[in-house]
Amino acid sequence: MKILLPTATSGSLPKPTWLAQPETLWSPWKLQDDELTQGKQDALRLSLQDQHSAGIDIVSDGEQTRQHFVTTFIEHLNGVDFENRKTVRIRNRYDASVPTVVGPVSRQKSVFVEDAKFLRQQTDQPIKWALPGPMTMIDTLYDDHYQSREKLAWEFAKILNQEAKELEAAGVDIIQFDEPAFNVFFDDVNDWGIACLERAIEGLKCETAVHICYGYGIKANTDWKKSLGTEWRQYEEVFPKLQKSNIDIISLECHNSRVPIELLELIRGKKVMVGAIDVATNTIETPEEVADTLRKALKFVDAENLYPCTNCGMAPLPRDVATAKLNALSAGTEIVRKELQTAK
Ligand SMILES: [Zn+2]
Repeated sequence: MKILLPTATSGSLPKPTWLAQPETLWSPWKLQDDELTQGKQDALRLSLQDQHSAGIDIVSDGEQTRQHFVTTFIEHLNGVDFENRKTVRIRNRYDASVPTVVGPVSRQKSVFVEDAKFLRQQTDQPIKWALPGPMTMIDTLYDDHYQSREKLAWEFAKILNQEAKELEAAGVDIIQFDEPAFNVFFDDVNDWGIACLERAIEGLKCETAVHICYGYGIKANTDWKKSLGTEWRQYEEVFPKLQKSNIDIISLECHNSRVPIELLELIRGKKVMVGAIDVATNTIETPEEVADTLRKALKFVDAENLYPCTNCGMAPLPRDVATAKLNALSAGTEIVRKELQTAK
C-alpha cells in the first residue's frame, strides 16, 4: 500500500435490521430464497458504503453474507453433519452445541467466491476477505472421524487453500485467517497450528493475514478476559514462531486491552494490523484515544508496516455505534499521519 497507515476493519460489521436480528450472534435471516440473496447483496453494498464514507482504506464485505465467521464456511463442506450435534467447550471458555465430523471433509464448490466477485465489482479500493483459520474451525466441531485435532486441521487447511486461491483469482488483495484459538492453545499452535496456517496460504501471491484477538464483546469472552489478570501475555507464546512464518500481516487486539504493547517487538518486520477500536463497549473512542494507541504501537512497529484496525469484528454492535467507531478510527489515524509527515 502506498498510503501511510492504511486503515482496515478486522472483519464483520453489523447487518441491517431488515436482514437479521441486530446485536445477536448466529442471528437467523429475516428473508428467504431470492429475497435473501438480494438482501445480502444490498447489505454488502450498504456496509461498503459505510466504510467508504468513514474513509476506511482497505474495505471488506462486512461479512454481510454469513451468519457466523466459522459456521457458515463449515456448512458448505462435505463430511460434517449439522443434524448430529454434540456439546463441546469452545476455546476452553463456553459450551456450545456443535456439528459432528462424520467422514472425510471436502469442499465441493467455492463458498465465498461469488460474494468476493460482487464486492470486487463495487469498489476500486484494496479488499480484504476473512476466512476462519484451521485451528479455530476444529475448535467449533465435534470430531467423530479423524480423532485427531491436528489431522482435521490439516484437512481444513487444504480446503481453505483451495478457497483462498479462488478468492485471489476473484481479485481479493488480502486474505485473512481468523485464529482466536491461537490465543488459547499455545502448544498446539507451535506444534502444528502455524504449519497448518502456512499450508492454507501455500502458493498465494496476494497478501495474507492472521487475526488473533480476544474475541467478540460477548459475555463469555469478557468474563474470560477478567480471569486473565493484569497483563495479557498470551501473544508472547506464539509471536516468535509467527515472526518466522510466511504470513505477511498479523492482526491484533491492542486498544483497551491489557496486552503489554512491547510484545509487538517480537514480530518486528511483519506488517501489523493494530486494533485501536474496542469492540466490547458501545463507548465511541475519541480520535485522540485512537491516535494514542497507534503512537504506542509505533514504538515497536515501523510506520510503513502499521495498519490501524479494529480489535475484532463489530457484528454484535448497534450499527450507529459501529459507524461512529469507523469514523473515530479514520480521524485518529489522520492525526498520526500528520505527525509522521511533520516529523520527516
Ligand atoms: Zn477477532
